[in-house]
Amino acid sequence: MKVAVFNAKSYDREFLTAANTTYNHELSFFPFNLTQDTAVLASGFPAVSIFINNNLDRDLLKLLAGLEIKLIATRSAGFNHIDLGAAKEFNLTVVRVPAYSPYAVAEHAVGLILSLNRKIHRAYNRVRDDNFSLEGLLGFDLHGSVVGIIGTGTIGLCFARIMNGFGCKLLAYDVHQNPACLELGVEYLPLNEVLTNSDIVSLHCPLLPETFHIINAETLQHLKPGAILINTSRGGLIDTKAAIEGIKSGRIGYLGIDVYEQEENLFFEDLSNTIIQDDVFQLLQSFPNVLITAHQAFFTRNALSNIADTTLNNIREFEETGKCKNIVEKK
Ligand code: NAD
Repeated sequence: MKVAVFNAKSYDREFLTAANTTYNHELSFFPFNLTQDTAVLASGFPAVSIFINNNLDRDLLKLLAGLEIKLIATRSAGFNHIDLGAAKEFNLTVVRVPAYSPYAVAEHAVGLILSLNRKIHRAYNRVRDDNFSLEGLLGFDLHGSVVGIIGTGTIGLCFARIMNGFGCKLLAYDVHQNPACLELGVEYLPLNEVLTNSDIVSLHCPLLPETFHIINAETLQHLKPGAILINTSRGGLIDTKAAIEGIKSGRIGYLGIDVYEQEENLFFEDLSNTIIQDDVFQLLQSFPNVLITAHQAFFTRNALSNIADTTLNNIREFEETGKCKNIVEKK
């Protein structure tokens, strides 16, 4: 099938081209997002592929349908960037990659915890400056500490297993209890009790209307003072302004985020020569106990290889049968 691949970075080209030796689709790569301005380039392609920071709203979907595009293949698990109601209305099929490497994301969450707790990001800069003082670098043993997991699906379970290996006590909040977590000894509690009793809280639930700002000024009142808060899930889970207040008051001891509410204006691009206009982000960056990565938790060779393979297989399935097991639809 002819596929217009938007937001194609060097790594997307590399992994999609390698996987395509099996599928033989006709791939055309465009380094920018699919927008009202660039949609014309998708003309003549029955399928387009996009990534998470490429919002497809109703107007854009209408335009795509007018260009006779049939399939939207997002190279992500999340699909909150696509108006599924409008996609259905315009007869556009949306397929995704439901799982590619839960280990990648869970391991990155653990990386943020280790860096923040032992201040590795600060120690690195200090030593480069010949400052060998240990003042301000004090951490705590993960062994014996309490970890709260919000969302114990595929990634939450991987994360639970790793933290169990460190010798942590595990608490969780989820709307469904995962039997594999129960087997591991995870104790399910109401959200506020998880927050109150945890030294580290890590978010692994999807962004849904019910989880939007699940960490907000009210729920932060329940957080154990000085706790580490980690978000590798979706930016909208945390009310960023409330988190800033939480950091200033000391309620949040450390914040590690791989995702940010307004990240679509920032992440995945080199903006080092521009003036960032997002004051909230800049303030967040200024705190010594905040560590931000730019949505890289998924970014392992294993994950990229799986994303490429599943995306191309989704397109093949749709081409051959008009269906696909990885279709996402508005319920
Ligand atoms: P999953 O569907 O396997 O698990 C999600 C869990 O959240 C489920 O157990 C579900 O019951 C729970 N949940 C749903 N609604 C909830 C609620 N209201 N309160 C508490 N828990 C709730 O998903 P997953 O594969 O583990 O992925 C989790 C999230 O990780 C994704 O939704 C995505 O946002 C994020 N993610 C981030 C990256 C990254 O690179 N940073 C990569 C992949 C996924």
